[in-house]
Amino acid sequence: MMSGHTDMVLVDKKGIRIDGRTADQHRQFKVEAGVLNNADGSAYVEIGKNKVLAAVYGPRECHPRHLQNPNKAIIQCKYNMQAFSVSDRKRPGPDRRSIEISKITAEALENVVLTELYPRASIDVYIEILQANAGTRCAGLTAASVALADAGIPMRDIVPACAAGKADGKVLLDLNKEEDNYGEADVPIAIVPSTDEIVLLQMDGNMTRKEFDKAISMAVGACHELYDIQKDALKRRYSTKKEEVEEDE
Ligand code: UDP
Repeated sequence: MMSGHTDMVLVDKKGIRIDGRTADQHRQFKVEAGVLNNADGSAYVEIGKNKVLAAVYGPRECHPRHLQNPNKAIIQCKYNMQAFSVSDRKRPGPDRRSIEISKITAEALENVVLTELYPRASIDVYIEILQANAGTRCAGLTAASVALADAGIPMRDIVPACAAGKADGKVLLDLNKEEDNYGEADVPIAIVPSTDEIVLLQMDGNMTRKEFDKAISMAVGACHELYDIQKDALKRRYSTKKEEVEEDE
């Protein structure tokens, strides 16, 4: 959401950003898999101050039935921002922005989930933004793909997502809220790390072709780092699950 100009210095003379990062530094990534007992799969993700939960149900019978596809499962995604997730209370319920983010998230996930294995079924993905600081669509997609893997749904790969953009004339990785609001451009991307395919790319604002290429390469680099953290979370989850089974035996 780029909304205007500010006198605020977003990047100082030494190239340091307001949260202390350099241009090519992302915020801290944290990923946990299997955080909810009653969903088929779940994950919790933090990207800096963004806090996001994802829960997955399915594959299960698709309702409403007219949405069923006889050849494959459909992915239904609901991105929701909690009223308390932003500084001005967010009016509850869907709005144009959350409908758009739900749609692009489902489309990105359709590239990796083997939906053809489950004709007529629905895979339902719920993304709850608990705290927002710009980059929530990326955090939500990152969490959703781990939750799908946690649910045991067959996938070609998992999907990490991260944004890059431009503020104060500099190309920056992983914009925070001030940089997103007052900066010149924001480009969230998501990739399939095993092939480097881009499955989500949006752009808000303007930059030159050269700046764009730089932003993409920084964001792809961050996605690969995030991918390792996603995989570690799933490995940790798998080993605790195994211990639980062994204790039961
Ligand atoms: N935001 C907000 N209220 C809203 C929507 C967004 O305060 O109704 C803030 C929130 O911090 C969000 C940021 O603006 O993370 C940037 O929103 P954008 O639409 O660019 O999506 P995001 O970067 O979160 O994917």
